[in-house]
Amino acid sequence: MSQRNPSIILKAGRERPLQQRHPWVFSGAIQAVRGTPHAGAVVELLSADGNWLARGFYSSESQIRVRAACWEESEALDANWLRRRITRALQARAQLLEWPDSACRLIFSESDAIPGLIVDRYGPFLVVQLLTQAMAAWAGEVTAALRELLQPRGIYERSDAEVRAKEGLPAREGLLWGEFPPEQLPLRPIRQPGSGSIPPPMLIDLRTGQKTGHYLDQTINRARVAAYSAGTRLLDCFCYSGGFSLYAAQAGAASLTLVDSSASALELARANLQLGAPETPAEFVEADLFQLLRRYRAEGRTFDLIILDPPKFAHSQPQVERAARGYKDINLLALQLLTPGGILATFSCSGLVSSDLFQKIVFGAALDARRDVQIVERLAQGPDHPVLLTFPEGEYLKGLICRVW
Ligand code: SAH
Repeated sequence: MSQRNPSIILKAGRERPLQQRHPWVFSGAIQAVRGTPHAGAVVELLSADGNWLARGFYSSESQIRVRAACWEESEALDANWLRRRITRALQARAQLLEWPDSACRLIFSESDAIPGLIVDRYGPFLVVQLLTQAMAAWAGEVTAALRELLQPRGIYERSDAEVRAKEGLPAREGLLWGEFPPEQLPLRPIRQPGSGSIPPPMLIDLRTGQKTGHYLDQTINRARVAAYSAGTRLLDCFCYSGGFSLYAAQAGAASLTLVDSSASALELARANLQLGAPETPAEFVEADLFQLLRRYRAEGRTFDLIILDPPKFAHSQPQVERAARGYKDINLLALQLLTPGGILATFSCSGLVSSDLFQKIVFGAALDARRDVQIVERLAQGPDHPVLLTFPEGEYLKGLICRVW
């Protein structure tokens, strides 16, 4: 088996990451290619002196030329491997799938040891992202395994265009199998294992909504932030479908101001609040937050709880500095709008901005705002987005709940 696959020979001294089970092999680490691997082919990874290191998937276009997926020479990368890995990912989430209408990430790519595959469960439907040449070529095997193991009503593909472009793949969207999902589906997010409170259902738009339809990674953080919301005048910045506001309203927030630059996001947020917290006064503002926060400051408006959950500002290393300025700007403005003793819940989903750097940015904003800021909780992506120790790149979402004086 191993002799029949093409081989990738690493440059001398470049084998260490693979020996430590890091899955990425960059083009610059490769000495030679033996055979002619096609896009997405299974390849053997060998050290410069010919030792077998790992087996993985070849990507002809990406800087990440191979993604290793197995470290046992006797284990083939085939449909059975895929089924075993999916089964393991499901086992890891057994505790989280408490209700039939659960919304939960089931497979998180490298972090679940299936590079290039993301699967989100939205009740009876699955939304799939095939993000590498190999997974695009394996669409049939992926669909068959998911049907067998999960018996969904439909499997819908929404492969992210930006990531696929790096693989030389066109954007793809459409039904892979079964029924078309409806426009909107009321689904129940996961809760922190062991926590008593049952999360409210939320309307999810899995065909045209952002990401695969919902920000699943923030579900548990919404409950954490809501714990500080009783009686507060809350400002939900970058609200998308209103998750933070909905949880906070149910926990007793006095009033809500939800802001997003997207009209369709605000429409979804309005529907969610109407459904789950119709009594709480809520205003929905379509605006660019960099401008709106300045206007609120000029008007002397204040809030007791502010959530900052912006989109990814840093998509590549050269963008980190600019991203840091963006984060500092909105954090400074938010600190200036908070009443003494108020709460700032601030997030960054840029993987390239580390927790340390993020804390330094908030520190800089606090100094400039001349406010005392205490970290009361540190937050991260939810347990359905685990971080594999050998792949720290899988850790991307970080948040701080701060008390501001
Ligand atoms: N807090 C949300 C997720 C936010 S995602 C949740 O819990 O689900 C980021 C959101 O920011 C998107 O909805 C996007 O439309 C919005 N956005 C991006 N740039 C913006 C800007 N400059 N001003 C206001 N909203 C913006």
